[in-house]
Amino acid sequence: MKYISTRGKTDPIGFSDSVMTGLARDGGLLLPERIPDLSDRLSGMRQLKYEDLAAEIMAPFVDIPDADLRALTSISYKSFTHPDITPVVKVGDRYILELFHGPTLAFKDVAMQFLGNLFSYLLTKTGRDLNIVAATSGDTGSAAIHGVRGRDRIRIFVLFPHGRVSRLQERQMTTVLDENVHAYAVKGTFDDCQGILKDIFGDLNFKDRCSLGAVNSINWTRVLAQISYYFYATFRVQEQTGAEKVAFSVPTGNFGDVFAGYMAARMGLPISRLFLATNENDILARYFRTGEYTTGRVTQTISPSMDIQVASNFERYLYYRADSDAAAVSGLMAQFAKSGRLRLADCDSGKEDLIEACSATQSDTLAVMKRYWEKHHYLPDPHTAVGIHAAEQLSRDTVPVICLATAHPAKFPEAVMRAVGADVAHHPALDALAGLPTRCMVTPASPAELMQTIEKAIVRE
Ligand SMILES: *Cc1c(COP(=O)(O)O)cnc(C)c1O
Repeated sequence: MKYISTRGKTDPIGFSDSVMTGLARDGGLLLPERIPDLSDRLSGMRQLKYEDLAAEIMAPFVDIPDADLRALTSISYKSFTHPDITPVVKVGDRYILELFHGPTLAFKDVAMQFLGNLFSYLLTKTGRDLNIVAATSGDTGSAAIHGVRGRDRIRIFVLFPHGRVSRLQERQMTTVLDENVHAYAVKGTFDDCQGILKDIFGDLNFKDRCSLGAVNSINWTRVLAQISYYFYATFRVQEQTGAEKVAFSVPTGNFGDVFAGYMAARMGLPISRLFLATNENDILARYFRTGEYTTGRVTQTISPSMDIQVASNFERYLYYRADSDAAAVSGLMAQFAKSGRLRLADCDSGKEDLIEACSATQSDTLAVMKRYWEKHHYLPDPHTAVGIHAAEQLSRDTVPVICLATAHPAKFPEAVMRAVGADVAHHPALDALAGLPTRCMVTPASPAELMQTIEKAIVRE
């Protein structure tokens, strides 16, 4: 499979190159040149264990021998504590797809654990090194660190805003003492961190000299690894209910996770609808209601991993909506960069009938958490609760709804306290962090200084 850019101005590249590439060189995002149709192979996949199913689904997208791919998925999901990897549990009349049984208790582990192993596999083949630089407001940084900790040929540098990530999220990053892990607390905001990251990657000389790589959510492999659990969950719910089709509700920030669901549907999985759920940062919900994509100010909420106003994966979806017209996408994105708004109407090929959107306020979110706890003795985390709210608002028929649970509630003790008035969510992996030693460097918000620090750390080894 070759990968093309949504803006169409670069030559197609192979899968292995796509793994190491963030943005395409023309500023677009990478997509497979065609979408494989698995619809007549579904019955043969039904019985597969998660890791084998994942290998089966990824196979048409990659250029890795089958046996190697199987070994990669097998080792990647050994770090999950649940035997089903991503179990589906029935709560009331909804199905909850628990994606938080990996090392950092958030769904990003599903992709990052695989990506870490894939990096090692490819670097061993080429004899190269990779230095990952990432900016995080919480979950991405710790999932990335746990994906690559202790690996040869890889170093990771994570920038987070000093004093502005939750205490637990900070400890998940700073208690990892492996030599290849560098956590930097930047004296500034998350936007400052992202700005610094942009400067670092914008210096092509530095980028090449230091073999820099990115793991943010525009990395195609992250989307790819997330497609599998849509298949897995659909099979489990079909077994339990005999339903032909299912719907999914997906708490959304950068549009990565829900885009994986969109791909699954395009690959032939019988998904009737995808409910896209946002918090008050509702740029995507507004787009699906009005057809206009307009940025606003970021509001801080109790579901911080969705506090995003520009959804970086949206461009991939736009490409398909514009009938794979890369010139139209380039035009729309240029217009968006200039004015902060775009309208698809001019090149839209028809009404979207798969995705429907809904946003939840803070009180909606807290109300879902409280109600699920009191009624079902099941506590969704605040992100998951946003998705459940959307399912309740948008579900109109008898099609079973699968709500993606993207984090374990113990990661968000303040929200839990506000919702149910008691400290009821714990997880041994988080409790164990309490007394551990930490390592972290506080740095000024200066791109030049950080580049020096990073290069020194690379040369030192
Ligand atoms: C990252 C994250 C999300 C949003 O996922 P996107 O792929 O950015 O839409 C939702 N919930 C949690 C807990 C997350 O960490």
